[in-house]
Amino acid sequence: MMKLLLENWRHYLKEEIKLAIAKAKDIICPAPTQNLELNTANRDRAIQEGHIKYGPLNLEDEEYWVSAAEHWNTTPDVAQQSRCGNCVAFDISPRMKECIPIDTDESGELGYCWMHHFKCHSERTCYTWAAGGPIDSDEQSETNQENNPQALEDEPLK
Ligand code: SF4
Repeated sequence: MMKLLLENWRHYLKEEIKLAIAKAKDIICPAPTQNLELNTANRDRAIQEGHIKYGPLNLEDEEYWVSAAEHWNTTPDVAQQSRCGNCVAFDISPRMKECIPIDTDESGELGYCWMHHFKCHSERTCYTWAAGGPIDSDEQSETNQENNPQALEDEPLK
């Protein structure tokens, strides 16, 4: 009887530990989603760096797309199809939505950029855009987080 009780107790503890680990994984958010100053620093870097050029800052700015098209050696119309919203680095998974509570406006939505580590906007883009997104599963989001430990640090990117 005592042995059975102990086994049940052990089993119960194991399940509790598994639940606690799963919960901890769920609530860990990339630092820039929780720290506005850090997010702004990384965003400004992405705007200013010549190889990134996050934009257009004004969504009506057609000139941005002309420059992007030149950079990608294509037309502005084609360039406009490559946006954060369909970039491989753009994370809008359910768990990330919990990290970014105010995540939509009339023109689109915010997600987390795993390449440049800030909250970027689905209607913008940058010169390092890559096909394959968005990330919309918690599993992929957690894999990205495991592969990007710097996302939990409170230091802006250099
Ligand atoms: S999500 Fe993609 S396109 Fe948007 S800023 Fe990040 S790397 Fe650039």
